[in-house]
Amino acid sequence: MGIVVQKYGGSSVSTIEKIQEIAERLIKRKENGDSMVVVVSAMGDTTDDLINLAHEISSSPDKRELDALLSTGEIISSSLLAMAIKEKGYESVSYTGYQLKIQTTDNHGKALIKDLDENRLKESLKEGKIVIVAGFQGIDSEGDITTLGRGGSDTTAVALACKIGASCEIYTDVDGIYSADPRKLKGALKLDSIHYEEMLELASLGAQVMHSRSIELASKYDIPIYVGLSTGDIRGTLIMNNMYMESKPITGIATSNEDIAITLKDINSNVNIISNLFNSIAEEKINIDMISQTSPVDDKVNISFTIPKDELEECMEIIKVYVNDTQITFDEDITKFSVVGIGMKTTSGVAARIFKLFSDNDIEVKMVTTSEIRITCAIKRSDELKAIKLVAKEFDISK
Ligand code: ADP
Ligand code: ASP
Ligand code: MG
Repeated sequence: MGIVVQKYGGSSVSTIEKIQEIAERLIKRKENGDSMVVVVSAMGDTTDDLINLAHEISSSPDKRELDALLSTGEIISSSLLAMAIKEKGYESVSYTGYQLKIQTTDNHGKALIKDLDENRLKESLKEGKIVIVAGFQGIDSEGDITTLGRGGSDTTAVALACKIGASCEIYTDVDGIYSADPRKLKGALKLDSIHYEEMLELASLGAQVMHSRSIELASKYDIPIYVGLSTGDIRGTLIMNNMYMESKPITGIATSNEDIAITLKDINSNVNIISNLFNSIAEEKINIDMISQTSPVDDKVNISFTIPKDELEECMEIIKVYVNDTQITFDEDITKFSVVGIGMKTTSGVAARIFKLFSDNDIEVKMVTTSEIRITCAIKRSDELKAIKLVAKEFDISK
C-alpha cells in the first residue's frame, strides 16, 4: 500500500454527478489501503469559457490577470470534490497551487514548475485525508498566480508524484493510449505500454491525451504513468521505459491543426540576417517547428516555417522588423501529420514508404521534418483523415 497520485481531466469532472462518482471511487481505493492525492482539471469547458470571458474585455488580456482568472476553474472543481468526499463521511482537504507552494517560472500562461513544498500535503495524508489538488497552477517568485499551459494538470500530477515518490495514474475520457486519436481513426489499436520517448513525441505533435511536459518529467524521474478511463476498470496503458527486442517501425500517429505556415519571400540569403530573425523569434519563446528554405537565386531565398497559430500576432511583430509586409504569406490550410516509433531507429525506408503512399493517393506534402524516431509532413487539412487511415493500414497499426 503506497501513495497514489491520480488525475481526473475536465470531462471526468464536468458535472456534480461525475464529481460524486469520483468521490466514491476515491473512497473505495482509500478503503483498500492507499493514500490518495488527487489532481483535478476544471469542470468541462470551464477554462474555454473563462478565456472567452476575458476576450469579451480585451483582445489580448493582461497575462497576469488571465492566469488569476484561469486558475479559478481548477479551484472550483477541487473544492467541490473535497466537499463531495466529506459529505460521504470521509476526511478530505483541497489545496490550490498557492497553498502547496508550487513554485514556477514567471512566464504567465506557460510557466514551468521549479519545485513544490510537499510538507503540507504529507501532513494531510498522515491525518488520513484524501488530498485534492487544483491542477494547472502555481506561483512565481513574486507570489503571483501562474498557469502551466493548456492541458497542464497532467504535469501537476506527475510533478507531485515525482516529489513524493508516489505512483501516478491519469484518468480521462479514453481507456488508454491508442495508435492514433480514436476520434479520428475508428480502428486505432490500444497500446499496453508505450515508451516515454514515443509518448513525448506524440504529445508534442498533437496527441492531446497527455501534456507533453508531464512525460518529460516522468521520464526524468523514471516514474511510470498509467493512463486509463475515469469510469469502470478497463485496463489502460503504461507510459514507461518499455524495452521490446523488436518493435513495429511505427507505434503511433499524431496530427495537429494548431499551426500556421509562414513564408518569407526573397529574403537576403545572408546567414546572419536569417539567424538574427530566428534568434529574435526564439527569444520570445515562440516555438518554430518545421522549416524549409529554397536554394539561393540572385542571393535571395524563400523561407517557410510553422508556428502555433496563437503565437502569430507576437511572431509578426518580430518578423516585420526584418521584412516588408509584401514579402510575407500565410498558409492556414495545414495539418501537421506525424508518425512516431522507436522501431524507426532500426528500420530504413519508412519515409520512402510514406511518400510513395501519399503520392499514389494525391496527398501533397508541403514541408517535412524528421528526427531519429519521427517523420512529420505538413499536408492539406482536407487530407488529414485520409492520411491517418492510409498510413495506419500500411504500417499495421489499425484493426
Ligand atoms: P482530459 O480532459 O482528461 O485531460 P483530453 O481531452 O486532454 O482529456 O485528452 C483526451 C483525448 O485525447 C481523448 O478524448 C482523445 O480523443 C484524444 N487523443 C488524441 N490522441 C490520442 C491517442 N493517441 N490515444 C488516446 N487518446 C488520444
Ligand atoms: N483546465 C486546463 C485546460 O483546459 C488544464 C487541464 O485541463 O489540464 O487546459
Ligand atoms: Mg488533457
